[in-house]
Amino acid sequence: MVTIADLLTQVEDSYQDIISLQQNLVRIPSVNTGFMPTGNETPVCEFASDWLSKNGITSEILESAPGRGNLIARLPGASNNAGLLFMSHTDVVPVEDDDKWRFAPFSATVAEGRIFGRGASDCKGLLTAQLMAMHILNRNGVKLKDSLLLASGADEEHGGRYGFGWLADNHPEKIAAPFAVNEGGGNVIDTGDGGFAYILGVGEKGRLQVEIDIKGSSSHASVPWQGTNALYRLAQTLKSIEIYEPERDTSASLFEHLSAFAIEDKPSPETIDDIILQLENKNVRLASILKALSRMTLTPTIVKGGIKSNSVPEAIRLTCDVRTLPHQDDAYLVKELSQVLDGIPGISYEIDYMAKPNASPFETSFAKHIRSATATSLGMDSVPMVPGISTGFTDSRFTRPLGTITYGFSAMHPEDDPMISFVHGTNESIGINSLINSTKVMLVLAHNMLAN
Ligand SMILES: [Zn+2]
Repeated sequence: MVTIADLLTQVEDSYQDIISLQQNLVRIPSVNTGFMPTGNETPVCEFASDWLSKNGITSEILESAPGRGNLIARLPGASNNAGLLFMSHTDVVPVEDDDKWRFAPFSATVAEGRIFGRGASDCKGLLTAQLMAMHILNRNGVKLKDSLLLASGADEEHGGRYGFGWLADNHPEKIAAPFAVNEGGGNVIDTGDGGFAYILGVGEKGRLQVEIDIKGSSSHASVPWQGTNALYRLAQTLKSIEIYEPERDTSASLFEHLSAFAIEDKPSPETIDDIILQLENKNVRLASILKALSRMTLTPTIVKGGIKSNSVPEAIRLTCDVRTLPHQDDAYLVKELSQVLDGIPGISYEIDYMAKPNASPFETSFAKHIRSATATSLGMDSVPMVPGISTGFTDSRFTRPLGTITYGFSAMHPEDDPMISFVHGTNESIGINSLINSTKVMLVLAHNMLAN
């Protein structure tokens, strides 16, 4: 029977194969603009499916629309049930300006121990690691008690309607598993005392969009007193949003783990601002995380209005981005908005849900497995791990409602700086050390959870 040490050695011996698999995936430009036809994820699925098939693993491609493939692969276990789901996505965000890139964005150039390219970090690196882990398990004939599933979805970057959203609605049985590991966590954060802790992505803030319509009445700009200028009401609205102090909330599970960062004071809504203030010059990243996790945010982002330079505008639309904590529902937002907009005449608004807030519990056997697989992969006795709620969202919001405990954990290498990955930016890249570590963690995790 193969030992964990053998498996880890095999990952190291697969160094070149891992790099070239990742390069091949990055070189397929599966750019998702959000406007159909787009994405073109099927060629990525076909490449991965061929690669799996050459390695004796069967998979299928489910298209939600022409060109928008979703890949599902399975290593069967003795029971008919899945025990673990590997999740990722195949689409990438557009490249803003090719000329600003050091290397062509779909060249997957290797330099300075990194692979550069759009999608290298988000999310083809995780897909590479999961494919390779599945392959190494299979190659060693490791007998599984429950099946290992791999699902890589389309359209994550534009809301998942053609990807996991579609799979969850139309083929939930194909992605059903008690546990899933996805993007959206697995970076390390400085603990402030020279150490580090991994962030396990247990949940995501919700995203809503508020369209505020501000009405006035029009007149010729030469006699402005005959009208009511909606821009002045806009100014009032903006001022009121600017000075709004959202309620502080310290119920996120991360607040119970601040001792990992040498913060001994128990945070409460009353003390959290002081804790953040003290952190601001020592650990900017943690300060920013704690700020985001202790409140809803309401941020004006777009203004539209005015039709003519010599007319008093009668209608302005102000768009705001809202991020809610996992337990804050739309009724909560309505209550807050009515307070913020109170007393400003001519206002009405509509709320649109873009993504519901969601979370999985942190104290689970699955979290323990991830923690120990990470320690084993790094050759450490244990690694510190804290639960994080991300401000963005991923496909995990589709699997959590299916009852799957889903964690964001891509298992980057602790020496790889997350700030230089430039996810969604120019010169996106992934450290090869992270790619290798991620492969090891996925492999050990699947082995420990599923092997007979
Ligand atoms: Zn992503």
